[in-house]
Amino acid sequence: MSKTIFQKIIDREIPAKIVYEDEQCLAFHDVAPQAPIHVLVIPKRPIPSLAVSQAGDTSLLGHLLWAVKEIAVRLQLDKGYRVVVNCGPDGGQSVDHLHLHLLGGRQMAWPPG
Ligand code: 5GP
Repeated sequence: MSKTIFQKIIDREIPAKIVYEDEQCLAFHDVAPQAPIHVLVIPKRPIPSLAVSQAGDTSLLGHLLWAVKEIAVRLQLDKGYRVVVNCGPDGGQSVDHLHLHLLGGRQMAWPPG
């Protein structure tokens, strides 16, 4: 199976503006930002989608959410932010490697498009 673009970023085969990394996850700026701050947080262990996550993934899933919070603090998103997980075709997922969008730096609208 061919590597996803995010696996290539993990493997340092293509560049990314990395803002956070630890043993479980990597975070980098989105190449097409939808807000002044738009960071993607991905697990190093590839899970294609939230929809296929398993009970054994709960610790990693929790860690990803914690990492989002940690990055938001570091990027001084004191007024708030939005966390988005697009899942499957209806959810608008375009890369088959689980990722959390951290969006901030502007007022978000609701409902999302
Ligand atoms: P999705 O639509 O799957 O929820 O989100 C995928 C995101 O990955 C999009 O926001 C898109 O802009 C971003 N993206 C796609 N290719 C690249 C890339 O090569 N580098 C970076 N930094 N972001 C990418």
